[in-house]
Amino acid sequence: MSRLAGIIGNPARHSLSPVFQAAAFAELGLDAAYEIWETPLQDLPSRFDRLRARDCMGANVTIPYKEVACGLVDELDRGAELPGAVNTVVNTGGRLRGFNTDGAGFVRSVRERGGLEPAGRSFLLLGAGGAARGIAFGLVQAEAAVIAVANRTLARAEGLAADLERSGTRARALSLGGLNEAEGFDCIVNCTSIGMEGGGAAGQLPVDPRGAGAGTLIVDIVYVPTVTPFLRRAREAGLPTLGGLPMLIQQGALAFALWTGLAPPLDAMFTAAEGELGRRSRAHDGPGDAR
Ligand code: NAP
Repeated sequence: MSRLAGIIGNPARHSLSPVFQAAAFAELGLDAAYEIWETPLQDLPSRFDRLRARDCMGANVTIPYKEVACGLVDELDRGAELPGAVNTVVNTGGRLRGFNTDGAGFVRSVRERGGLEPAGRSFLLLGAGGAARGIAFGLVQAEAAVIAVANRTLARAEGLAADLERSGTRARALSLGGLNEAEGFDCIVNCTSIGMEGGGAAGQLPVDPRGAGAGTLIVDIVYVPTVTPFLRRAREAGLPTLGGLPMLIQQGALAFALWTGLAPPLDAMFTAAEGELGRRSRAHDGPGDAR
């Protein structure tokens, strides 16, 4: 029987997940497909019900449904319960279990591509939305020592910092606008959508990374463009940097393993995603562009 997975979101049609998940299925010779399930809010419960079908392995969940998905599954893994956000659903015999692989995917990307072991380190997260929550609790599980959260809307940063404190991690909330303490962290992570192509703050920086101390790892989870203004400025200042694609692939690879029980073919997934990003960037530049 051919098996099925897909991504639930709105919008979801620009997601890279179908490209690299299909590449993973093909690499391992699996008879499986990955579809885009762009879903308006009123259709969300019936969309989740269809995940219970025998041929369905589960789904990824993206903007804006990661929080609401917690109430649409039968049980929550601890990694989803802590941040209050589900990005992966697994169907086992008609029962739906919600997971969050964003945090663990981030931690893996920082370890493997950023050369930083999070245990005992201090992190400054810029942003307090769904992605920041997943990453923050991934860092708690990886035993980070300190997590500061700076957000435009201070109350949201305070809420996340309070949740982190309750889980036993030293945390504090800062205002993104008045941020003047970017120094003293081992790693600074842009978890806002600032700098994202097509977003309201494309071309902008969340903060100036030049305030960070020498050797601070600068991470941007935004992956379009692959080198964001935040990363470019950090590179110019001689700081080590990491883009958002490794996290995207790692969170998808963890989902793949949950659905199939197989080791994900990471190289094939990276190659497919990088190829697609290159194609999209050329299409965006248009014919006749010299780049
Ligand atoms: P979200 O829940 O909507 O949160 C957006 C965050 O960005 C909030 O903290 C928001 O601050 C802040 N923000 C947005 N525009 C801003 C502006 N003009 N100035 C200051 N702050 C601004 O979104 P999300 O799910 O967390 O996603 C955030 C970004 O991460 C997106 O670009 C997404 O594509 C990316 N992402 C990447 C991965 C990956 O695997 N690489 C995974 C998930 C998400 P307020 O609270 O003040 O509104």
